[in-house]
Amino acid sequence: MSIRLVNGCVNCENLAADSTCKVHHAVVEKIHTCDDFDMRVSLKDEVECGTCYKFKTPECPNQLHATIGMLCNEYAPKAMS
Ligand code: SF4
Ligand code: SF4
Repeated sequence: MSIRLVNGCVNCENLAADSTCKVHHAVVEKIHTCDDFDMRVSLKDEVECGTCYKFKTPECPNQLHATIGMLCNEYAPKAMS
């Protein structure tokens, strides 16, 4: 099973500082998500082969093409300590 970043409100560009959704004008929690999810720009910069634990390992399904800045659906973040 791949570990993935959650497409939830907590990672969404549309979440305001007061925990309301700028699209739906309602209070939301980090467990929520919707079809208007828009990943925060800061996360977009972080999600790529260079931060994937599968990079340059046999677990990467795209070993011939994987490179810094690329991304695929099998992305899984490196463990943080
Ligand atoms: S757009 Fe959807 S995912 Fe984003 S904050 Fe609003 S409800 Fe959550
Ligand atoms: S190609 Fe996919 S699985 Fe391979 S290192 Fe890049 S993001 Fe990870």
